[in-house]
Amino acid sequence: MAVAAHPDDAELFAGGTILKLRGMGRTGVLVDISDGGAGTRGSAEIRAREAAAAAKALGVRRVCLGEPDGRLRNTLEAQWKLIEAIRRFRPKVVFTHHPAEEHPDHGATAALVKEAVFRSGLSKLDVPGEPHRPGRIYYAVASATSVLPAFCVDVTAQWKDKLRVIRCYESQFFTPAGAKAGRYPGKTDLSTPAFMEAVEIRGRFYGARIRRRYAEAFWCEETAEVIDPTALGGERFP
Ligand SMILES: [Zn+2]
Repeated sequence: MAVAAHPDDAELFAGGTILKLRGMGRTGVLVDISDGGAGTRGSAEIRAREAAAAAKALGVRRVCLGEPDGRLRNTLEAQWKLIEAIRRFRPKVVFTHHPAEEHPDHGATAALVKEAVFRSGLSKLDVPGEPHRPGRIYYAVASATSVLPAFCVDVTAQWKDKLRVIRCYESQFFTPAGAKAGRYPGKTDLSTPAFMEAVEIRGRFYGARIRRRYAEAFWCEETAEVIDPTALGGERFP
C-alpha cells in the first residue's frame, strides 16, 4: 500500500518501486488522502481521470479518502478512514511521505499513517473490518534530501515506465505536448521543465549511492533485519 496526500505523489516517490514489485507478482493499492482538487492547475475531475490512468499503468487499485486538500490534518476521523482501507486491503508494508517534507499535507499524512497503522491492529477499535497491522512503514526520502535513506531500491529497469506514469498527470507536470497546447494555465513549481529535471537528478543521485543508474530512497524508523548479509547488493557499477 502506498498512502499519499495527493494523487501523483506516490507515483513520484515510489513509482519505480511499485512497478518493480508488480513485476515480482505482488499486488498493491494506492490510497490518496485528498483528491488534489485545491491544486493551482487542473481540477478534481481532471485529476481523478489522470489518477485512474496512472493506477492502470501501475497495475494497482486506487482509493481516495476525500479529506480536504491543502489543509490535511492528522485527525482521528481521517485515521478511521485509513484504518478501514488498511483492514480492507491488508497490506504487508506501507509506503508514504517522509515527515520532513516541505508540504504540510505531506507531513500530516506521514503522522496520520503512523498512527493509523498502529491503531488498525487494535481489536476493540470501532472501525469496520478485521484488525490488521502492516509490518513496516517505509517513508520516501524523495524531496526530503537532508534525510539519510535506510535503503534504496534499484529502479533502473522501471525508470522509463515510471516517467510514463508521471506523464499521466498532464495537468500537473511539464510535458512538451501540454505546454505547446497551453491546456493548463497557472504556473507552479511542478509544471516547469526544471521539476522533471530534479526528478531525474534525484533518481540518478540515489542510484549512484547503490551503484545503479536509478534508484528510489526510503527511510525506516525501525532497524531492518537482514536475513542474508551476502544478498545486500553492493556490487560495483554494472
Ligand atoms: Zn503532494
